[in-house]
Amino acid sequence: MYVLVTNDDGIQSPGLLALRQALDAVAECVVLAPERNWSAASAARTLFDPLRIDLVAMGDGRDGFVCSGTPADCVALALLGFLPRRPDLVVSGINIGPNLGNDVSYSGTVAAAREGTMMGVPAIAVSLDGRRDSDFRPAAEFAAQIAMLAVSQELTPQVVLNINVPSGPIQGVMVTHLGRRVYRDELIVRHDPRGRPYYWLGGDAPEGDLTEGTDTAAVANGYISVTPVHFDLTNQPWLDTLRGWRLDV
Ligand code: MN
Repeated sequence: MYVLVTNDDGIQSPGLLALRQALDAVAECVVLAPERNWSAASAARTLFDPLRIDLVAMGDGRDGFVCSGTPADCVALALLGFLPRRPDLVVSGINIGPNLGNDVSYSGTVAAAREGTMMGVPAIAVSLDGRRDSDFRPAAEFAAQIAMLAVSQELTPQVVLNINVPSGPIQGVMVTHLGRRVYRDELIVRHDPRGRPYYWLGGDAPEGDLTEGTDTAAVANGYISVTPVHFDLTNQPWLDTLRGWRLDV
């Protein structure tokens, strides 16, 4: 098994290192990850600047490729010919912080995986509901296990498996659907020394819908959530509603 490992937190993230170390036990891994943190950059792609790739030592001394572009750039570059051959799987993570419910539309971690699927390579995204100093090993070991299953069970590139791991003791694994995130963003206005206002979009961490069957509830209850997500955003019931509008020119 040949696996492209990437993330959105940047090549020096401990989550990426733990993921690659666990995948090393079951696959031949190549790392191509962004040089800086692109969290919440979703599927941004670089259109107006050249992209550079360098080889650097990761935290354990093993080499990884680092790219000046975004997470989606990394995957596109790898699959368009930077890698000597096509990987069997793209694994993105382990993100520092969860990517639950509506978070997937912001997530660079999920977007990197999605980029793989758009280019026909199955992909999984892995996030830990933890912090930089959390223990990533349980999440990494689960990721390696599901990576093997993804290949042996022929996961299709029609879906991304979005995996979220709780930081505390793990109660089990649940197959879930996306929950609803309740964001508590607020606009913070301050003034610079010259009196000009500047803005932060900030606020407390989001809360999650605790309805049974959702990823938000599973992780809140100590379970790993595995959600198959796809990116046909069409709202099916509205097709008929809109046809009823008799749109014409
Ligand atoms: Mn991130």
